[in-house]
Amino acid sequence: MSHPHPVCRFPAGQAHPDLPASLADQPRVSLAALPTPLQEAHRLSRTLGGCRILIKRDDLTGLAAGGNKVRKLEYLIADAIEHGADCVITAGGPQSNHCLQTAAAASSAGLGCDLVLGGEPPQEPRGNLLLDAIHGATIHWAPWERRGLVMDQLASELRFTGSIPYVIPIGGSNAVGSVGYVTAMFELRDQLAAASCSVDHILFATASGGTQAGLVAGAALTAFPGKVTGIAIERVDRAHVAAVASATAEGLGADRRFCEEDIQVNDDYLGGGYGVVGDLERNAVEFLARTEGILVGPVYTGRALGGLMDMVRKGAFDRGETVLFWHTGDQNALHAYAQEFIEPTD
Ligand SMILES: *Cc1c(COP(=O)(O)O)cnc(C)c1O
Repeated sequence: MSHPHPVCRFPAGQAHPDLPASLADQPRVSLAALPTPLQEAHRLSRTLGGCRILIKRDDLTGLAAGGNKVRKLEYLIADAIEHGADCVITAGGPQSNHCLQTAAAASSAGLGCDLVLGGEPPQEPRGNLLLDAIHGATIHWAPWERRGLVMDQLASELRFTGSIPYVIPIGGSNAVGSVGYVTAMFELRDQLAAASCSVDHILFATASGGTQAGLVAGAALTAFPGKVTGIAIERVDRAHVAAVASATAEGLGADRRFCEEDIQVNDDYLGGGYGVVGDLERNAVEFLARTEGILVGPVYTGRALGGLMDMVRKGAFDRGETVLFWHTGDQNALHAYAQEFIEPTD
């Protein structure tokens, strides 16, 4: 089987003039529409009455329904191809954005895709689960805590039949995937320079930590002067995120290493738990939709934006400061949460 998707190494100084050679040298396939827009959220800032707010639109990365996993997958899929893989295996929840973006990325690279989803199959596939099937992924169900094990078993079975599987960890959060967010920090640096703008705080939804690991490593490599803070969507293991950030830097030949204290996580907004939409999430989704015409999702970006709005209202940022909300996608999941947003009629 031949791979139609070229793995490109950009010769240093050619396609990405500003990337350090080690970063430009990483095997990468082009999946995302980059750079994603960097937008001024005037009406959001004014309505909240606080600092200046910018939005980095990684909901518009372009593959399938967009989102942050596409940047990681540019490097993970390239690594899979370099390993001679003919299919990828990954895992997540039934509505996993990561699984959907992986299914779409595998399709575009001519690779098979097996997804291990936690829980029981629903009566009718909806939302991302429906889209996984449309992208042609093979779905396997497993008890939530056994997903990792089932991925490994599946990989052995596939190898036995002569296939060459490549296992992508949950969330694509390892030193290969996180390079996508190192590159993203260089992209942001260039956009800020072009707009003569500086940012004091970057805020975003953090969960499996690969996005944060990449942003933190990228912030160090670009000498970003502001703070990088993840708003926890579920409990985050900061030591693990620091280890992934260190491994990412090491993989790029950089000397910088990170410890737990380098990983800023705000876990004030865990609410009712993972995937539970409360007032914070619902209000944030509706507020952004009605001030800026931009959708955030119910699980990740609604919670992170709700946290950001609460922090602005509580005076966490000075009026003269600039806060960047890194939109990581998941607006499509709103369709699977219709009942949370419809007012009761009786
Ligand atoms: C996966 C995901 C995140 C969290 O990214 P991690 O790298 O897993 O921390 C944030 N937002 C959305 C929409 C996601 O799908």
